[in-house]
Amino acid sequence: MTEVPLTSPPDPAAPRIVPASGIQPQDVDQDALRVLSRLQRNGHEAYLVGGCVRDLLLGRKPKDFDVATAAQPRAIKRLFRNGRIIGRRFRLVHVVYGPHVIETSTFRSGPVQPENGAEAEPEDLLITEDNVYGTAAEDARRRDFTVNALFYDPNAGVILDYVEGLADLEAGVLRTIGAPPVRFAEDPVRILRAIKFATRLGFRIEEHTWAAMGEHAHALSRSAAPRVAEEILRLLRSGTALGAFRMLRACGALATLFPEIDGFLGRRDDPDPAAHDRADLYWRLLEALDADVHAGNEPTPAVLLAVLYLRLVEHRASSQRESSHAWTESAADLIEPLAARARLPRRAVEGAKRIIAHQFRFTQPATHSARLTLFLHSEDFPEALHLFRLRSAAWGQGWDVYEGWLERWKHARELPATELEGLRRKRRRRGGRRRRQRGGDPEGGASEGLAPDGPEG
Ligand code: ATP
Ligand code: MG
Repeated sequence: MTEVPLTSPPDPAAPRIVPASGIQPQDVDQDALRVLSRLQRNGHEAYLVGGCVRDLLLGRKPKDFDVATAAQPRAIKRLFRNGRIIGRRFRLVHVVYGPHVIETSTFRSGPVQPENGAEAEPEDLLITEDNVYGTAAEDARRRDFTVNALFYDPNAGVILDYVEGLADLEAGVLRTIGAPPVRFAEDPVRILRAIKFATRLGFRIEEHTWAAMGEHAHALSRSAAPRVAEEILRLLRSGTALGAFRMLRACGALATLFPEIDGFLGRRDDPDPAAHDRADLYWRLLEALDADVHAGNEPTPAVLLAVLYLRLVEHRASSQRESSHAWTESAADLIEPLAARARLPRRAVEGAKRIIAHQFRFTQPATHSARLTLFLHSEDFPEALHLFRLRSAAWGQGWDVYEGWLERWKHARELPATELEGLRRKRRRRGGRRRRQRGGDPEGGASEGLAPDGPEG
């Protein structure tokens, strides 16, 4: 006789529903609330989802408010005159209120495996197609980390938890939804996202999640380069770059993405004390960057990349006869190949090369000259000086030199525009003459024809 259970087993698709007592209703964005309420009034299941729910529960200010709903894009669009369907890979709707956009997406189910075509290995889990609509439960489970998969209904005042995310949120734990090796194989960029959330929120990465990050870090080389570059820039400007880069190194992602930097930092058990000093200076620059971000400064992508490479260039240049030329050459030699492989944004890479090479000038005695004036007025100057400030803070020296340059910069701005234009014209004429003599200038023009190619004078 088969045994009949007295109670039916719990529905695995049913969420835990708890009152959202930790959230202040006034912290919810009014436009997001409007979108959500209209969807619900028209009979569509809809919630606030993702980072905003996590941040509201943690008492942090959400960056943006995202809505997920059972309604499909065309149905959403019909409800909002200000709705625009966007995206090819995932179609979603942007509901636009002036400069403010509420991203509204239809519940999706888990990843679709690539077809067993020519390129896809049978065991290949990398997500290539991601546009199959699903239920709220499926939508929660396809997300990356448990704390990122909570659904919030502000009208009902409840949180829906399909993945035990609330427990992790309370414990300060970052954990993948489902088996970590599978989730990182599907999308290795999640490794960088894990590091971003762990450092930003001060969360501990759960041990199986961490172990799988180490196993899959090598696969980051197969991820879309622009996504990787974007996450790296985010980590650098996060205010927790030091912790993030230590984690990147510890899980092997730094060795995959930037082997030269990883090599430069040496091995922990290196008997040579110089190797430790080298690493120490590297980390101190990231620490200075974090302090600078916390002080409210916003480093540009060029400054961020320059911070990443400065120590390597400096080290290479100091092994040659120190000259501006050595800096320029070293910057180009080191940054070019890495930047090309990581496909970092071109503009930022070119800027980083120039502002690193300009560093040499800051420690040279400043003489009053046309060249100096043009440097002070060049497009690169603010970023170059920003990098010099970070350097001075990191090394704990040169602060007076920095202030001297700041002073000079202030004075330079008082120069009448006509005088500046005169200097620029003269410079262009000289540059043109030189180029003709040399038979063309393959270096091309850095800002104001001021390629960092020599001491002032
Ligand atoms: P932030 O505060 O930085 O915006 P966020 O959690 O909102 O953090 P987003 O990148 O804006 O992160 O993504 C929104 C949500 O989409 C995430 O919370 C997560 O649920 C889901 N998500 C984003 N990227 C992935 C991914 N690569 N894999 C699975 N789910 C993802
Ligand atoms: Mg977000």
